[in-house]
Amino acid sequence: MGRFAPSPSGPLHLGSLYAALASFLDARKQRGQWLVRIDDIDTPRNVAGAADSILKTLETFGLTWDGDVYYQSRHLEHYRYYLDLLKDQELLYPCLCSRKTLTEIKHSAIYPGLCRNRTFPEKSPHAVRIRVDAIDSTFNDRLQGTQSENLATQHGDFILRRKDAIFSYQFTVVIDDHLQGVTDIVRGVDLLDSTIKQIHLQQKLDFKQPSYMHVPLITDSHGIKLSKQSFARPVATDHPPRVIFSLLELLKQAPPQELADASLSEILDWAINHWQPGHLSTMTAICPAADLDAS
Ligand code: GLU
Repeated sequence: MGRFAPSPSGPLHLGSLYAALASFLDARKQRGQWLVRIDDIDTPRNVAGAADSILKTLETFGLTWDGDVYYQSRHLEHYRYYLDLLKDQELLYPCLCSRKTLTEIKHSAIYPGLCRNRTFPEKSPHAVRIRVDAIDSTFNDRLQGTQSENLATQHGDFILRRKDAIFSYQFTVVIDDHLQGVTDIVRGVDLLDSTIKQIHLQQKLDFKQPSYMHVPLITDSHGIKLSKQSFARPVATDHPPRVIFSLLELLKQAPPQELADASLSEILDWAINHWQPGHLSTMTAICPAADLDAS
């Protein structure tokens, strides 16, 4: 079972459609289900209308999902429940550090553990962090190969719930993937760095670890990742088969030239049957031809 989990902070751009297509093809090739989840937990970042626009765009490109769309913001009770489970294991602590304190004392992006000895209950507004261990953790990414990282020295204790009471991306994604039964995660390589933290949470919660495949990022001609922050334009929807055909080339699927004029469903059927992600091995960035890119 695969999934695509966009954050509704803007319309879908070519880079997100690329990752969505990879995950869709991977699930369908295995005759698995493909789910869509709207990662709208970070409510201040949500943009009105973005979720609907993303869903409409996926439909326009023939990426139809199974079941109902899952909205994180409607499942807060699950996050509370699992946070309590981790709290009961005494793995969490309240963190009162302000952004200002952290910027002042921090020499790197790693939290120095200032609040490690604090305990619950804590009345002042606080974030909730999980303690991590100084051991090397390893996982195998289907494209990027074996990844080995030390959570303590490379990441530090990380936040599960922010001071403004919003549950973090790292935490919610692990709970949702587990509750939704996701077995195969395919997403952009910008999230490779998050995976070890997510695996740590899966282990502490006794969840089954999904398989991971991190696909290259689509960049502009300057090598900058297409993103909402870099003002990537929404993907053009006037000729979906042409865009999907080009994305298949960028996914190194080598679609035959005669498919270029086929219908959207013919192209997608071919792509499902021939899906072979291995050609993307260890690639982390791809820059499309200027006429395809929208930014
Ligand atoms: N919602 C995350 C994002 O848009 C992706 C979640 C995931 O694939 O793990 O970056």
